Amino acid sequence: MKNFVLSLLFTGLSLCYAQLKSPADFLGYPIGTKVTPHARILAYYDYLTAERPEQMKMESYGLSVEGRPLRIYYVSSPNHIRNLENIRQNNLRLARAAEGEGQVQSPAIIWISNNVHGNETSSAEASMLTIYELLNPQNSKAKGWLEKSLIIIDPSLNPDGTDRYAHFYNSVAGKNYHPDLYSREHREPWPGGRYNHYYFDLNRDWAWQTQAESIQRAVIYNKWLPHIHVDFHEMGINAPYYFPPAAEPFHEVITSWQREFQTTIGKHNAAYFDSKGWLYFTKERFDLFYPSYGDTYPLYSGAIGMTYEKAGNSSAGLAVYTDSKDTLTLVDRVIQHHASGLNVIEIVSQHADQVVKEFKKFGDDAMAGKLSSYQTYVLKHDAAHESRIRALLHLLDKNNIKYYSGSGSLRGLDYFTKKEQNHSLQAKDVIVPANQAKAALIRVLFEPEAKLSDSITYDITAWALPYVYGIPAIASNSKPGNLQAYQLPKVQQELSKGFGYAVKWDGFAAAQLTAALLSQKVAVKSSEQAFKIGKEEFPKGSLLILREANKRVDLEKILKEQSEKLQVPLHNLTAGIMEGGKDLGSAEVKTLKAPRVLMLAGEGQRATNVGEVWHYFDEQLNYPLILVNPADFSRIKWSEVDVFIMPNGQYPFLKNSSQVAEFTSWLKAGGKVIALESAVSQLAALDWTALKPLKTDSATSKTKPNLLKKYGDREREALEEYTAGAIYRVTFDDSHPLMFGTKDYFTLKQGANLYQYFEAGKGWNIGYIKEGAKTAGFVGHSLAKKMKNGLIFGSESVGQGTIIYLADNVLFRNFWENGKLIMANAVFLTAD
Ligand SMILES: [Zn+2]
Repeated sequence: MKNFVLSLLFTGLSLCYAQLKSPADFLGYPIGTKVTPHARILAYYDYLTAERPEQMKMESYGLSVEGRPLRIYYVSSPNHIRNLENIRQNNLRLARAAEGEGQVQSPAIIWISNNVHGNETSSAEASMLTIYELLNPQNSKAKGWLEKSLIIIDPSLNPDGTDRYAHFYNSVAGKNYHPDLYSREHREPWPGGRYNHYYFDLNRDWAWQTQAESIQRAVIYNKWLPHIHVDFHEMGINAPYYFPPAAEPFHEVITSWQREFQTTIGKHNAAYFDSKGWLYFTKERFDLFYPSYGDTYPLYSGAIGMTYEKAGNSSAGLAVYTDSKDTLTLVDRVIQHHASGLNVIEIVSQHADQVVKEFKKFGDDAMAGKLSSYQTYVLKHDAAHESRIRALLHLLDKNNIKYYSGSGSLRGLDYFTKKEQNHSLQAKDVIVPANQAKAALIRVLFEPEAKLSDSITYDITAWALPYVYGIPAIASNSKPGNLQAYQLPKVQQELSKGFGYAVKWDGFAAAQLTAALLSQKVAVKSSEQAFKIGKEEFPKGSLLILREANKRVDLEKILKEQSEKLQVPLHNLTAGIMEGGKDLGSAEVKTLKAPRVLMLAGEGQRATNVGEVWHYFDEQLNYPLILVNPADFSRIKWSEVDVFIMPNGQYPFLKNSSQVAEFTSWLKAGGKVIALESAVSQLAALDWTALKPLKTDSATSKTKPNLLKKYGDREREALEEYTAGAIYRVTFDDSHPLMFGTKDYFTLKQGANLYQYFEAGKGWNIGYIKEGAKTAGFVGHSLAKKMKNGLIFGSESVGQGTIIYLADNVLFRNFWENGKLIMANAVFLTAD
């Protein structure tokens, strides 16, 4: 008996040693009963990695904006973990992203992304259970899966958002949760943990990579190019579970295999959910079109990219009453995401051989041009567009898209005229061949007009890069020969220490240089007239930096450093007289002042639109921006403000008479307001502004309304008045400083927000939409009829002050490259 007890004790001990701590044992609470902060999530992953080094490996890929670690964890069989680097290199060969023949005897690579929206907290919690289960020695099925697959888990794509939510929740929740929606634990304060530090939605940023998290993730993602990508989310608290197959529209480039296998995965999950009696939906709401999501970007890179959604998000807390009087708990949310995670791994492992073969086929088809609509895209170089071309090449680099220079001539569709034309290639033209590893992504990013199988989509419907960047381009069905590596010459400055220096105002980089110089107290002038120095032509707005005016700064050192950093060439000035322009002493050569810029940022504002402006100033322009809580409006020291930016959002101060009085007295004394989108409409509604919305009088419409509409058509009919976002060409007054440096501008129209032209003397009609200006994307036919002859960019004087109206978002998700200079002009150059 004694021996038996002893042996039990020993067995128990050895079991203990062999056993891994579950998440509950490690964290001290069952998963789903607390919101786990990011550091604790990583701590558990690190614990498992330390305990099972033969089966797990961690790789750090950087830091979030606020400095939290970005990491992925590999989980697989000891054999695969030992061969990780070989598997990776072989996979790039399969994808045709590296030289050589890839071998299909390789594990399926499954990448699981959690918490891209930081307050959709259940996936990171669930991932701890998932990884524990994969390593659990008692789980023999899992062992089999890991023989066939390599799992890459990112515990949180958005650590700053994850922690913003966790800190909020844990600081307001008591020992007992309260499930009523109105209690404070369900009312996350502005801006919410959905977003990253700069309030960007990282699930709209995969392709554009404007944010630190996306930039660093894309590097490691493209180093791997997984076969399966799972992106976990949460939606409203009343919805049943969502998993693939996704909803129409699917982009045409999505292959039949990608469609089929989504369905295979979906059916497998459905069978499991059915066995548990869990409700779900598929094929609705979440479409596959816009290229910058966590499902589409992987799809366009050869993976089966998928979105999974569970009811939840910040209003759910640990438990919440739903409309059907059920209680939705974090435990429920975790269990279902955990189940889906294991189900994906299971079904993919069962089909691993086919998954790898089909992935190879995607790469082979890409190289063979089978995924392409056009064969070649050409960005036409001229000096005036070089700065924009540099910016676009940077985007191509981030996405591993290859480009070349070449010779000869080709015929193709001109993006700007929409006509076929012949083009003889110039040395600095950029050639993007459609047949390369990233063929599908190239097609989606470049094709002049993407075909929509269904016009109900979750996001914008047009983003072709030549329009976004304002670069003349051609889409061609021929392939130029003689491709050579492409590089624009690096700017290296030789400064003559003569009269001064001139800088062409031809792109956003010139504005970045201006911001840098003004911040370092360099005196900078801008010419309202174009001029020439020798053979060099300087467009309107070009900068003049004179030695005489800059004796107190180390001018050449600052200029050399900044111009090389920003790749903006400086031209030596030899005298104060210039050909074809005003002399330096002219009144049309204005000294720029360093404006003090302020924006309201806080409760009531649209976080993403505030974030666009904040990130633009902080990270792109690198220029100070004062952020003030709307509640502190009365504390603003207006005498210290030159520019007041009003991004899309609500401005209740406009209805408060004392605040309006304060605001208008500042404006009339010489202040400048830059208003965007809905801020424009709120200003236009005031009686002291001259701007008025465009009237589209339906009463005068000749067509009689159809009274016998069908109930079943209601969703379609709503679309008649709708656009999710389409591209229109803007006609503009290029003599107005707002448009200096812009040759062609295409705007993203997300609604019918057009304004009447100002009457003479009331304001400047700077940019407008004429008839037939629609260039790409879906616009409902009733709305399309109204989208003409209206103002989108204008300015109006109020006393000594100015309001700049930008009815469309020139900083859309900060990838609308061509709008960045317009915003800079509004800040630095315009004054009526
Ligand atoms: Zn989400």
